[in-house]
Amino acid sequence: MKIYDVAVIGCGSVGSAVGYYASLSGASVIEFDRDLPPHQQGTHHGETRIIRHAYAEVEKYVPLLLKAQTLWNELAQLTNLPIFSQCGMVNIAPKHSVFLKNVLKSA
Ligand SMILES: Cc1cc2nc3c(=O)[nH]c(=O)nc-3n(C[C@H](O)[C@H](O)[C@H](O)COP(=O)(O)OP(=O)(O)OC[C@H]3O[C@@H](n4cnc5c(N)ncnc54)[C@H](O)[C@@H]3O)c2cc1C
Repeated sequence: MKIYDVAVIGCGSVGSAVGYYASLSGASVIEFDRDLPPHQQGTHHGETRIIRHAYAEVEKYVPLLLKAQTLWNELAQLTNLPIFSQCGMVNIAPKHSVFLKNVLKSA
């Protein structure tokens, strides 16, 4: 019987990243999922995701978003695949809304 250092249950966005970085650090990893990711039964399905650097909802996320950006850039370089495409975004809200104020603040 093989004993693993790390067992991950649920291999969607977070679990697969945990498994990947744990194995990079030298740990032996086993991952379980009730389906075969990528699939449509989790929240990782679909063609695209956006990383918003100006994040109105929770300003505290910005350092995490920037870290995520670095890791996606690394993965794109490593795989030589066009997995990240830089684009702008437009936030539309009433001029004096808290939402727009927070977007500007986090930017
Ligand atoms: C429509 C939509 C648009 C989004 N847009 C964005 C965006 O633009 N930018 C952004 O940053 N985020 C976006 N998100 C959020 C982002 O996709 C999720 O935060 C992220 O995928 C969550 O990852 P997770 O690993 O927690 O969940 P998931 O990726 O859902 O992974 C959970 C995994 O656990 C497995 N699982 C569940 N129960 C069990 C069990 N009992 N046993 C074994 N395995 C199990 C599931 O099969 C699944 O594979 C969006 C989400 C949705 C739904």
